[in-house]
Amino acid sequence: MTIVLWRECWLKPLSNYDIQTDICKYCNQSFEDRDIITSCEFCEIGIMHSQCADDHIFKNHTMEVQRKIELHKDRRLHDFQ
Ligand SMILES: [Zn+2]
Ligand SMILES: [Zn+2]
Repeated sequence: MTIVLWRECWLKPLSNYDIQTDICKYCNQSFEDRDIITSCEFCEIGIMHSQCADDHIFKNHTMEVQRKIELHKDRRLHDFQ
């Protein structure tokens, strides 16, 4: 079985004034027009490129992700009972 991780959100246009930064907290590159950005649900690192957030999560939050997957499996089991 393949487990994918759906980042549940819709795209919301914001300016660098709205987000109060124009630097990605992960790669330290400036945000460009129409970059897709997000934040981490597991820590307070700040705003990152969406791709950087993927890297960040897999490097720093392997355990949290695994726990989520296990929780999800448990829930599915209960649904079928
Ligand atoms: Zn970045
Ligand atoms: Zn994090």
